[in-house]
Amino acid sequence: MSYAKEVIAKADQKFAEQPEFLQAVKEVLSSLEPIIEKNEDRYRRDAILERLIEPDRQIMFRVSWIDDSGKVRVNTGYRVQFNNAIGPYKGGLRLHPSVNLSIIKFLGFEQIFKNSLTGLPIGGAKGGSDFDPKGKSDREIMRFCQSFMTELSKYIDADTDVPAGDIGTGAREIGYLFGQYKKIKGLYEGVLTGKGLSYGGSLARTEATGYGLLYLTTEMLKCNGHDIKGKRVCVSGSGNVATYAVEKAQQLGAKVLTVSDSTGWVYDPDGIDVKALKDIKEIRRGRLSLYKDYRPNAEYHEGKGVWSVKCDVALPCATQNELTLEDAKTLVKNGVIAVSEGANMPTTLDATNYLIENGVLFAPGKAANAGGVATSALEMSQNSERTSWTFEQVDEKLRSIMINIFHNMESAAARYGKPGNYVVGANIAGFEKVVDAMLAEGVS
Ligand code: NDP
Repeated sequence: MSYAKEVIAKADQKFAEQPEFLQAVKEVLSSLEPIIEKNEDRYRRDAILERLIEPDRQIMFRVSWIDDSGKVRVNTGYRVQFNNAIGPYKGGLRLHPSVNLSIIKFLGFEQIFKNSLTGLPIGGAKGGSDFDPKGKSDREIMRFCQSFMTELSKYIDADTDVPAGDIGTGAREIGYLFGQYKKIKGLYEGVLTGKGLSYGGSLARTEATGYGLLYLTTEMLKCNGHDIKGKRVCVSGSGNVATYAVEKAQQLGAKVLTVSDSTGWVYDPDGIDVKALKDIKEIRRGRLSLYKDYRPNAEYHEGKGVWSVKCDVALPCATQNELTLEDAKTLVKNGVIAVSEGANMPTTLDATNYLIENGVLFAPGKAANAGGVATSALEMSQNSERTSWTFEQVDEKLRSIMINIFHNMESAAARYGKPGNYVVGANIAGFEKVVDAMLAEGVS
């Protein structure tokens, strides 16, 4: 049995209760087979794969907070510091009722390779809580964030671990978390990214993941003989990533036909109205069913359905495992050219394989959505230098990082005999740097 398969078999036993984490381990280790085979003796002796799938540490803690009626509520907080071989831990905080250790570990594991792919010196981590921000008042959000940070602050600082936003953690939550960190530690430092502009945030961070997704997708299309201009695009989600993906796609001349949220989806034959989307989601914090008030020609449907719309480019930007094998078959039948993952692992493993086998250009999330963390690292640099760059400076750095990521994954795939397989390419390109550092730093 190959080394990778052996480690997967052991993981199957050890992490049987963590399906999302196992899925990520299988996906990554299987795609690393070409590089693992070439270095099998060395990696085996140093237990590289066993060390890679075991986080440096996983912190779980109680978060007690008081709701507006005076009742004490209790949630679980998580921070998984996965691997800091190439730099301080870095990764978002997810606030969603579905959060559990398996999901945080899967996200932290993926983050190692994503962060490495950016070419910037940042390690992998992820955190969050099963707290549901929906329907909570501002004061409740603040009290939750303060309680969460009271515990988390023991394990992080600007040179150790720098968390950021993710699902449910936007500018408002980062502000409350930062305020509490500052109060507890008495330190004004860049310990979180995604901060507001008035207290150390970076211009273009809000737009970065969605814009970066489009920069990479455009380059992938271009290098395969296609132009983004005039393409029909389907987007899922209507949060931070989706909104700015829609905005940039339209700036680049594509037509975006769909967006969705956890209750339904919108089809707008005239192209999604980004202003309306921002108004509904960023200002009113409402449901997508409101969209028809702005655009009477559009259709709103309850439930899932975005991938049934005929398109050239599909951008899943909501959550994990939202694009299934059935969806992939529909997309292929409808002639899709490219699928680029704005969310983390939105495509199931069988759907990913089906798309690749059917010649669809497939950009995995760890490459395609790396613009967010890359710009977070740029925010860290600005904080360290106590300076701030213009929107254009940050956007231009982001664009060149995303183009580099595409070419790194493309060339790694070709070097290891899998040309055009960007899943393999992204994993190998991310892995190479981390493993080099792990070997150089010795066994720890
Ligand atoms: P947001 O919370 O801003 O938006 C998430 C969107 O997905 C919302 O439209 C939400 O709908 C929808 N959604 C969430 N859960 C589900 C579900 N179970 N079923 C259907 N729809 C769902 O998050 P982001 O846009 O920041 O993140 C989206 C994805 O991108 C995540 O996978 C995240 O990890 C990833 N990502 C984010 C980065 C960032 O910079 N923000 C960076 C890299 C990756 P509703 O409004 O109803 O909740």
